Amino acid sequence: MGKKFRQFMGEIEGKILAGDSLSLQEALALNGKISLNDLPALFEISDRIREKSFSRRIKLCAITNAKSGYCSEDCIFCAQSLHHQAQVNSYPLLSAKQLIEKATQAEAMGVHCFSMVTSGHKIENPKEIECIIEAIQKINELFPSLSCSASLGTISFNTLIDLKHAGLQRYHHNLETSESFFPKVCTTHSFKQRRKTVEAAKAAGLQICSGGIFGLGETFQQRLELAFTLKELEVDSIPINFLHPVKGTRCEERGLIAALEALKTIAFFRLILPETNMYVCGGRQITLRSLQSWIFLAGANGMMVGNYLTTKGSPWSEDQTMIRDLGFIPSSKSS
Ligand code: SF4
Repeated sequence: MGKKFRQFMGEIEGKILAGDSLSLQEALALNGKISLNDLPALFEISDRIREKSFSRRIKLCAITNAKSGYCSEDCIFCAQSLHHQAQVNSYPLLSAKQLIEKATQAEAMGVHCFSMVTSGHKIENPKEIECIIEAIQKINELFPSLSCSASLGTISFNTLIDLKHAGLQRYHHNLETSESFFPKVCTTHSFKQRRKTVEAAKAAGLQICSGGIFGLGETFQQRLELAFTLKELEVDSIPINFLHPVKGTRCEERGLIAALEALKTIAFFRLILPETNMYVCGGRQITLRSLQSWIFLAGANGMMVGNYLTTKGSPWSEDQTMIRDLGFIPSSKSS
């Protein structure tokens, strides 16, 4: 690394640690200058920024696929879309009792946040909402320190208010990708609709969990654009997913994003959003393989444990060992 580049990196770090924001132009300039050899220096910076905001605390979250398959939408990566021929276990909404059981299993792994995720563009059937409300109330009663989250697609403001009154703390709704790339990812609904849902959940007083999935063919600039939109929306936490190509979807032939490229993406998100919770979720194992523990050096301060929506995660004992080996402390407190 040349002296000039080292100085440039130092200036960027100094600026962020002093509380100033990185601009899109600066992030693009940094990406233009950085080579594979410079990545360790980038990770040193992203790690220090993570350390400053979150010390050695790691947040864990878990999800359950509360209603699977039969989705009318055509998201190119998704095995649950009716536009695809992927083999998925499709089923209607789980009962409140089953959702509570899933929350109990998640709580046993020490997660601070548990989310119920339903497939489909939206969920507005009153019976389904009633069932989710019953589950939220019971989960809050049983596990007061567990943050309850839901991911129910496009949703009305009034339903969001009902969920909040029932004890929902967080609404999850990924933007998935940048506005400029979104039409290549989904044609049955728009980026604006997704953004509106995030804004409605925020207006309802819920914490916002919103991020995206990488490796769909988007450029690095488009990843940065997503990071800046999430910054503008002031989301509370960002799930970072990497494509796990599933047979039968339009992404089945797409190769995996390179492990170092995935880590570089996390590091840039940390530089752009120094104080926002960042969880590495789907695609972690298949994309990062032996470099999984590097997600924290790259700047993530959390990860999803247990299974994903349609793919398997790691055994909890393996993730637990990884966190312990790094000397990090799993944080069970919601924030
Ligand atoms: S990502 Fe969600 S909206 Fe898109 S196809 Fe899958 S379940 Fe449907």
